[in-house]
Amino acid sequence: MVNRLCGGQSGGGSSLNMSNAKHCFKNTENGEKYMTAERSEFANSGNTGNISIAIDGPAGAGKSTIAKEISKRLSITYVDTGAMYRAIGLKAMRMGIDPADVRRVVPMLDGTNVSIEYVDGVQHVLLDGEDVSGLIRTEEVSHYASVISTIPEVRKKLVELQRALARVRNVVMDGRDICSYVLPDATHKFFVTAEPEVRAARRYTEYAAAGKLNGRSFDDILCEIKRRDERDSTREAAPLRPADDAVVIDTSEMNVESAVAAVLAVSYTHLTLPTNSRV
Ligand code: C5P
Repeated sequence: MVNRLCGGQSGGGSSLNMSNAKHCFKNTENGEKYMTAERSEFANSGNTGNISIAIDGPAGAGKSTIAKEISKRLSITYVDTGAMYRAIGLKAMRMGIDPADVRRVVPMLDGTNVSIEYVDGVQHVLLDGEDVSGLIRTEEVSHYASVISTIPEVRKKLVELQRALARVRNVVMDGRDICSYVLPDATHKFFVTAEPEVRAARRYTEYAAAGKLNGRSFDDILCEIKRRDERDSTREAAPLRPADDAVVIDTSEMNVESAVAAVLAVSYTHLTLPTNSRV
């Protein structure tokens, strides 16, 4: 069963105000059944004792913005798994290796070390000891990351690191396969998504504001997003799709605050929070 957290029946295309909206889940099996957020179907047992909030979703859906905010509000660690794939992609790019060339990528992995450090609560990704956090946010690296992440050996290496992080701390972790594969026993699971056109519009505005459009039109960005969605969701290894027990949050007509409120509404009612948590 897929549970979709929806924007109520506010209509009009405006962002959802959770203070008067129905905190509702839509059971997409029959498309009719609505339940309140306080229902306990969403409590997920079997985690290792740490809090783990898993958030998957396609590029541009807003999952990292939401996850960072959740991390701040609950004082738990944000783990951005995409940054790890980007670091490996960057290495291939620097070495002139085609990210689809399994015969060259796999040996490259042997001499590659990806690690994570937190500085003032902010995640930094280290590639062979070098902090590459500022170098991995380009379109070229996005492409390398997306292609290289289809290789099972790459995934295996990074999934070990991701699970190790969740074993020793309370985390909110975002990615593509966190709910279904990396942390199947996560305390709570979400799939954050939005219409491709909405995601492309967000990216377009972001790039325009940062002077990073490089001559690309809205349609170019939409094409890139669709291509990435297609690759992420059709690959054999851990394809992007909502886990059966994930709550789907569609942010097409929701602002960040509403989406964060939605995640908290689900999580807070069921979590045993650490003593220093703030909400
Ligand atoms: O999330 P972000 O856009 O930074 O991720 C970059 C790429 O890394 C994605 O397009 C996806 O192909 C890959 N990725 C993945 N599994 C994850 C996180 C990211 O395959 N858990």
